[in-house]
Amino acid sequence: MRVLKGKLLKTFTELNLIEPLQRAIAGENYKTPTPIQSQTIPVALKRRDVLGCAQTGTGKTAAFALPILNRLGLQNRSAKAKRPFALVLAPTRELAVQIGASFATYGKHLKLRHALVYGGVSQTAQVRSLQRGAHIVIATPGRLLDLMNQGFIQLDKLEVFVLDEADRMLDMGFMPDIKRIIRELPAKRQSLFFSATMAPAIVEITDTLLVDPVKVDVTPKTRSVKKIKQQVIFVSRKGKSDLLQKILSSRDNLRAIVFTKTKRSANFVAERLNKVGLKAAAIHGNKSQNARQRALDAFRNQFVKILVATDVAARGIDIEGVTHVVNFDLPMEPEAYVHRIGRTGRAGAKGIAISFCSSGDQGDLKSIEKLIDHEIPVNQELSVTLPRPSAKSTRGRTGRKSSGSGRSGTSQGGRSRKGAGSRRARDESAGSEKGKRTTKRRRRRVRTEKASAVKSARTGESSSKESGKRTAGGMRDASGTGATKSSAKRRRPQRKGKNARKRANASRSE
Ligand code: AMP
Repeated sequence: MRVLKGKLLKTFTELNLIEPLQRAIAGENYKTPTPIQSQTIPVALKRRDVLGCAQTGTGKTAAFALPILNRLGLQNRSAKAKRPFALVLAPTRELAVQIGASFATYGKHLKLRHALVYGGVSQTAQVRSLQRGAHIVIATPGRLLDLMNQGFIQLDKLEVFVLDEADRMLDMGFMPDIKRIIRELPAKRQSLFFSATMAPAIVEITDTLLVDPVKVDVTPKTRSVKKIKQQVIFVSRKGKSDLLQKILSSRDNLRAIVFTKTKRSANFVAERLNKVGLKAAAIHGNKSQNARQRALDAFRNQFVKILVATDVAARGIDIEGVTHVVNFDLPMEPEAYVHRIGRTGRAGAKGIAISFCSSGDQGDLKSIEKLIDHEIPVNQELSVTLPRPSAKSTRGRTGRKSSGSGRSGTSQGGRSRKGAGSRRARDESAGSEKGKRTTKRRRRRVRTEKASAVKSARTGESSSKESGKRTAGGMRDASGTGATKSSAKRRRPQRKGKNARKRANASRSE
């Protein structure tokens, strides 16, 4: 693998992109390629595989979109029904929509079509655009596999494959889906791979995906964004809502994203803010795609000044002019802190990141500070002295006693986070007893659904509620091999007991 350490290109003209792309870039008023762009675009244009270590906000979308558009623009072919030439995989619907918008912007002077494929909405329009033919498909893994299984998309003509935010894919449990998709890719292809971090599972997948890649690393050494003023406020759990109101109502020209740990608390916080006249919208995984998009648009267009979000839903959101990020709850994963605060201070602007730390959160605070390699200054004026936690609360979920020690006059111990990382990231409802029960039920349901999906893939049955609906009148039925929703239901009774769970697990690991 070659690690690129060449000089940074100063202008877009030096990148030798085709004229329609140069024009679109000029229209966007981009003057200088960002480091990821000036390092990735030249090698990607030479059709080399790329392993890019970069976060959102670094300009990485253009780093892969411009070479793809350049290649397809030069070829000037018409799109083929169901057979894209380029595929971009993204972890969330929001990110897929954003990437689609970037392709539309950069490719506006080219005659190329792109299609978006993501779950949570009807597949009808997506299938229609695939059947019309799209040069580029931008997809989330679950829906893509669903449509592949139904025969609405084939990857045999694929020339470029992009895997974006691989680390998030891993956190969200998409790796088995990704591996399945990779197995369907033609051997001769170009692959561009992007991840903010390089966990061992990520490295493993790069080995199977990339051939002699050029490594481009633009991860900042200190993981925290310099222009962002960070502070921590020690506050009791009960005091958080009042503190939030106080902070948000005392600022003019405010545009804030408030992060909570659970979906319930996102709803609760947004409701409380609205009640006191601070216009807020909540965005999380339980909301429908349309509701999420509406909330994002309202925030983007400044109809609401505050967006209350969970980590999973907020991933990759790129909204200019966010003045404040408030961590109402600290994230369980220190990496998520860096991603969260990066929602402010975009494109060199200044931003403020405020983190609430209550009794029992100090272990998480310590992990964050270890990652960003400095202590976050304490807002002494607004901080309270927290009570000494009970022995029980100094133990983490694993039961191991924490080594965390308090600071700034607070005495709470940290919690052991070992083993809680990625599980927690996928589980937004963890945190309360009720949340835990919901989580268990949800995990059980996901396992059962996954088992059904695996089975469906083999038998040709539709796996999701939506695709089930469509199968009744869709392709497989037309060919006489598919099952209708009602027959699928008959054959798949609701599994609830322990044995049923074991069966589901067994068929999942088949
Ligand atoms: P991304 O990391 O791809 O999400 O991009 C973050 C933001 O930077 C987006 O709003 C882009 O429009 C913007 N951007 C990308 N490349 C450039 C550039 N070369 N100059 C100025 N802004 C850029």
